[in-house]
Amino acid sequence: SGTLYLVPTPIGNLGDMTQRAIDTLQAVDLIAAEDTRNTQKLLNRFDIATKQISFHEHNTQARIPELLARLQEGQNIAQLSDAGMPSISDPGKELVHAAIEVGVPVVPLPGPNAGLTALIASGLVPQPFLFYGFLPRKQGEQRTALEALNNERATMIFYESPFRVAKTLTMMQTVFGDRQAVLARELTKKFEEFLRGTLSELAAAMSEEARGEFVILVAGAPDEPLQAPDLPLKAQVEAAIATGARP
Ligand code: SAM
Repeated sequence: SGTLYLVPTPIGNLGDMTQRAIDTLQAVDLIAAEDTRNTQKLLNRFDIATKQISFHEHNTQARIPELLARLQEGQNIAQLSDAGMPSISDPGKELVHAAIEVGVPVVPLPGPNAGLTALIASGLVPQPFLFYGFLPRKQGEQRTALEALNNERATMIFYESPFRVAKTLTMMQTVFGDRQAVLARELTKKFEEFLRGTLSELAAAMSEEARGEFVILVAGAPDEPLQAPDLPLKAQVEAAIATGARP
């Protein structure tokens, strides 16, 4: 049979397209894309002439038998979404599941992803982490989902639309208390920005008309409610300067 390739695409900066992603998209027989018009721009940019077929949340079940039939006939197919890793808050997981079930090889390519990119520069503890993706939109359901995470020790990673980011931060503060959090905005783009503070500070900073794409990261539940603070970093630096201590 053919192979199903899972191909990540840039989350804003076209320079993040990997050579292997380009080579794979050129070599396969068909690209299953979340939005073929969007993907066509990417293909044009990298001179890729491969045919596309639409594969998104509204036609997933209808498309899977057709894609599996092609794979079993020996065609190679690349699946991708509009941005970042397929299957991560994006279409793909049902196709992966079906391919594994019928014995079609599945080959993932590494590449751009908003959650991990945000995490490594957040300054929050990077491990363990919990990737949540999008919370429910309805207030009651969102609250219930957050309450279930209240004792979570891992750093939590959420995706959120700019229209709801302020409200979601406020709800997080209500449920979790005023924890440390980070907003990663417009990653890899011209106006990339990290906002670090408590949930209430970040909620206050986000007006209703927040613009751009956001990842919300929230510190996990603390081990002990009251930990003796270490000597603050600034004082340690001043002490090192005063004593001339160097490694
Ligand atoms: N598959 C993608 C990935 O691997 O990250 C995620 C797709 S999901 C439909 C889109 C959400 O990801 C946005 O609402 C936002 O929360 C986050 N996101 C995507 N690109 C981003 C960027 N450049 N900066 C910040 N957040 C981004």
